[in-house]
Amino acid sequence: MKYHFIDKHRQSYPVRLISRVKQHRKLVQPRQKFTQRFDASLMQLRENVVGDTAHVINSLMHRFHGVPILESSVRNLASGTKQLQLVYDKVLNLYTYSGTDAHKTARKHFWCGAEQWVDPGVTETVRDGDKKMRSGEPKYKIRDLLLYPGSQVHPAGTSQVCSECGYNPYQLLEVAYKERRTLRTDGKGILDLGAHQLQLMTRKQANPKHYRRQNIRAPFDQPLANKKLTRDEAFKQVKFQLRRAPDSLRSRDTTQSRYHCVMVGCGHVMHADANAAINIVRKWIHDRAITPKAGS
Ligand SMILES: [Zn+2]
Repeated sequence: MKYHFIDKHRQSYPVRLISRVKQHRKLVQPRQKFTQRFDASLMQLRENVVGDTAHVINSLMHRFHGVPILESSVRNLASGTKQLQLVYDKVLNLYTYSGTDAHKTARKHFWCGAEQWVDPGVTETVRDGDKKMRSGEPKYKIRDLLLYPGSQVHPAGTSQVCSECGYNPYQLLEVAYKERRTLRTDGKGILDLGAHQLQLMTRKQANPKHYRRQNIRAPFDQPLANKKLTRDEAFKQVKFQLRRAPDSLRSRDTTQSRYHCVMVGCGHVMHADANAAINIVRKWIHDRAITPKAGS
C-alpha cells in the first residue's frame, strides 16, 4: 500500500505505509508515565470510613438484635466535596436492596454469601412489581418481611416532625395559610392555627455578656408578641426556632443539631438526628404497613 507524502515545497514522495508501520513497531517505545485520574488515597480513606461505619452498625445490630432502617437519600451532607455522600451510598448498599449488580455482589460478599433475610413473623406491604389496578393505581401485595439485612425508607418530613407529639409544624402552617393571607401572634407569642397553637419565640440579637462568660448561647426567651406574619414569614420563623445550635458555645455539634418542638403543650427538645431516626423507623413501619403476625 502506498500513499503520498507532501513536503513543504509541495513536492510529493510515495511512502510505503505498511513498511513504515512495521519499522515503527520494531522501535522500543519510551516508557510512558501512568497518571491516575482520581485520588487513590481519598478512595482508601473513604473505604476506611465505610468499614468503620459498617462496624458500628453491625455492633448495634448484634447488641439490640435489630436491623438498620436507613434513609434512602441524604441531603445536606456537609457541603463542598461529595465524599460523605459517596460514603453514605456505599453503606446504604451494604445493608439495603439495590438493583445494581455491582452493589448486589459487594453486599453478598460483605455478608459471606447471604443475600436476603426473611422474617416469617412479620408482614410488609409492597408494590406488586409493575402491576396496576384497573383504576391505574399501583397494585400492592402483602408478604413476609424481606430484609437485605436492613431496609430503607424515603426521609421526607422525618426531620421536621416532633417524635414526641407527632406534629409537623410546617404541615399545620400550610393548612392554616390556605384560608388566610396573614396570621397574628398574641401577646405571649402564640400563633393560633385553629386546632393547634405554635409558640413563637426569638432570642436577643447580641449574646449578652453573662451568657458569653459561661460560654453558652442566649436562650430563646423573647416571645414574638403581636406580630403579623405572612405564610413565608411564619415558615421562616419556624425554621429559625425548630432546629437550633446547642446551648454550649464549646459544643462541636452543628448549628442545626438540636430539635425544639414549637407546639404549645409539647416543647420537646432532643438531638435532631435522634428525633429524625425515631421518625424514620415510624415512617418505614407506616409506609410498608409492617405488622407482626398473630401468635408470633
Ligand atoms: Zn412536639
